[in-house]
Amino acid sequence: MLENYLLYLAYITNKVQKHFDSQKEYICCKKGCSKCCKKAQFPYSDIEFQLIYKGLLELEPDIQKQVLDNIDKVIIEKQKHNEEKPDEKFRYNCPFLINDECTVYAYRGLVCRTFGLMTFKKGDTKNLNIPFCAYEGLNYSSVLDKIENHISNPETKDDNLNPEVMAYNIDYATLIDEEIAKGFNFQFGEVKPLIEWFIKWKEELIEKLN
Ligand code: SF4
Ligand code: SF4
Repeated sequence: MLENYLLYLAYITNKVQKHFDSQKEYICCKKGCSKCCKKAQFPYSDIEFQLIYKGLLELEPDIQKQVLDNIDKVIIEKQKHNEEKPDEKFRYNCPFLINDECTVYAYRGLVCRTFGLMTFKKGDTKNLNIPFCAYEGLNYSSVLDKIENHISNPETKDDNLNPEVMAYNIDYATLIDEEIAKGFNFQFGEVKPLIEWFIKWKEELIEKLN
């Protein structure tokens, strides 16, 4: 099943790269910028987790140890958070991020591959997801009108931008549609924050690595 998911992943990665290329005028992503790998939930489906887990097992021992230490730290932070703020969602820095770089880049999940583009919510082209970093001077910030929460040239109010600013039908819910998965002959399975997968699989992971 993982092989079939990899075919889908290659298809999506290629499509997403074309979107990034066509929007490059508005994109600031570069090596070392890792704001989108911090203070978030990182939803992962079962099959995405299987791939990133494989990536973890294949890391060099010293990097692997750092990631495992990060996982332990985040699990402790989560326990504390659950006791102190049980009604609030837990947000954390991704344990795979070391020195502001992803240690499992080739194995990363769908949400990690699409972040930074503008998307719209599944079935609703009017409901835009503008990346948070637009509000921090990064992607699309040159065409973001923060006051009206609108994408246009703030100085000229020119909506006829060249190249055209696009939002794509690649939000997470759209990408993990089980009907699409069926076409590639795999299933996404359950979805939960990345750290919760590690809580579930920690004992097996420790056994595997010893
Ligand atoms: S999406 Fe935004 S925060 Fe993430 S790498 Fe690109 S510019 Fe940086
Ligand atoms: S897996 Fe890699 S790209 Fe995804 S959030 Fe973690 S560090 Fe960032």
